[in-house]
Amino acid sequence: MLSDTLREFVSREVEPQAAAHDRTETFNHALFQRAGELGFLGITISEEYGGSDLGATAAVQVYEAISGSDPGFALSVLTHSILFAQNIQINGDDALKRRILPLAVSGEWIGGLCMTEPEVGTDVLAMRTRARRDGDVYVIDGTKMFITNGGIDEETLGDAFVVYAATGEGSISSFVVERGMDGFRLGQKCKDKLGMRASYTSELVFDSVRVPVANRLGDEGAGKLAMMRNLEIERLTLAAMSVGIAKRCLDVMIAHANERKTFGVPIRQHGQIQRYIAESFSEYRAARVLVYETARHIDLEATGQRVGADAAKLFASQAAKRTADAAIQVLGGYGYMGEYVVERLWRDAKLLEIGGGTLEAHQKNLASDLCRDPSQI
Ligand SMILES: Cc1cc2nc3c(=O)[nH]c(=O)nc-3n(C[C@H](O)[C@H](O)[C@H](O)COP(=O)(O)OP(=O)(O)OC[C@H]3O[C@@H](n4cnc5c(N)ncnc54)[C@H](O)[C@@H]3O)c2cc1C
Repeated sequence: MLSDTLREFVSREVEPQAAAHDRTETFNHALFQRAGELGFLGITISEEYGGSDLGATAAVQVYEAISGSDPGFALSVLTHSILFAQNIQINGDDALKRRILPLAVSGEWIGGLCMTEPEVGTDVLAMRTRARRDGDVYVIDGTKMFITNGGIDEETLGDAFVVYAATGEGSISSFVVERGMDGFRLGQKCKDKLGMRASYTSELVFDSVRVPVANRLGDEGAGKLAMMRNLEIERLTLAAMSVGIAKRCLDVMIAHANERKTFGVPIRQHGQIQRYIAESFSEYRAARVLVYETARHIDLEATGQRVGADAAKLFASQAAKRTADAAIQVLGGYGYMGEYVVERLWRDAKLLEIGGGTLEAHQKNLASDLCRDPSQI
């Protein structure tokens, strides 16, 4: 049922608007709310809060499918549903979940996650944003950078964000900061992006924002664990987006190889074109198997499973970019033109080698985890 609904939604509603939103660099908020109506924003969220509680395999299906048409839109949905809502579901208390999750699942609110800072990215634990307890509130000061769903003006600024902040030496905590809280504002807009142009990316500024203690996720100091747990499902679903990109690029490349003739024969008969198709297909299949295999085994409430998610994203993101590149090559000059989709997917694919952890971060994590505990191989 999920596959059928997804297929319909993607072909009838996502695909027709994708190129225009890429061109105008705008997020389709109406489509986001439609995704809420159809239940796609609460795939991993418990039925108690309005979600469908379908788990990680269903989540990767959703992001794979949407990303095959519009990775930029998929990135916004993923950020909202996984980095924001799923994070609150796992790490928040009952009151917070009851208040926020139904709004997130329906699409009434759009949320995001603030980890990266202007001067701190991969070395996230060195973050400079601080939260100081003052009675019943925490006072948050700092700046977060490259925040998806941050918006481009007051109207498009997201409704709420999970924000990581240092609460002492070696202590990180996470908080839900909501639009309208004094001192919370949009900083610079990250316009003119290479790809993922159908999602908004911005800097968010926290200037002595007073956040109720009730908006803290878990205990003070529990933020590092919450972050690690959320990064696993984030990386896995981002890997699923790469699989969606690779599949679409293969579809386009194969259709063109069948239709286009040079030297009197369809180009599929040229050995070098066959190589692009065969290698892209093998990489796509390998990435898909790895992503689904990891999804089947991931425990969304646990930590310590990052080798699966890191390996999936390390492999799938590069496979998607190579497949998009091969598709452009197979299409020749047409591949370079927007109308043929693969140039957009090529631009979007690059982000997946950076966002949610760079290739180098995955390599370092994997080497460190596997050398410490080779039984994970
Ligand atoms: C479109 C977009 C959307 C994003 N959305 C969000 C969001 O919603 N929320 C959020 O918090 N962040 C978001 N990000 C930020 C993203 O997660 C970071 O850009 C990413 O983690 C890398 O951090 P950085 O850009 O600071 O690069 P840096 O950490 O400065 O890294 C620069 C380069 O150095 C390498 N490097 C760094 N340290 C090491 C090391 N120890 N060994 C070897 N190489 C190293 C990196 O791999 C990279 O190649 C987004 C980014 C983009 C572009």
